[in-house]
Amino acid sequence: MNKKQGKTNNTDDFIAAIRREKANLQKAYRDAALKLYPPVCARCSREFTGKRIRELTVHHKDHNHDNNPPDGSNWELLCIYCHDNEHSRNLDSQWSIFTTNEKDDAASSDNKPFANLAAMLAKKTGNEKRS
Ligand SMILES: [Zn+2]
Ligand SMILES: [Zn+2]
Repeated sequence: MNKKQGKTNNTDDFIAAIRREKANLQKAYRDAALKLYPPVCARCSREFTGKRIRELTVHHKDHNHDNNPPDGSNWELLCIYCHDNEHSRNLDSQWSIFTTNEKDDAASSDNKPFANLAAMLAKKTGNEKRS
């Protein structure tokens, strides 16, 4: 069997290829970020040299991993521990946008920070016909 045909329906191959591509990309912007910034965690200020530099990771300030400007303006070097913290915190606040806060519900009917967003979304789909 010739495995080089490349037209296999093997999902594992596909996923592996994407993983490889992602890993390559991650390595690429990590290398670039390490050239731009000193090997220091932006949170805890620890320095990572030698083998320990593996513990330093690239955080995307806007959380968009596809946003990789070459000047590094969207990158921040964080150690794996601070990076973990950063994400669990942001995950929490992100989720709170989409989950209704029940204890606030009664008082905040005219004070919804995301009411504008809802209106914007409604306008986009053309459902909002108030004038
Ligand atoms: Zn750190
Ligand atoms: Zn991150």
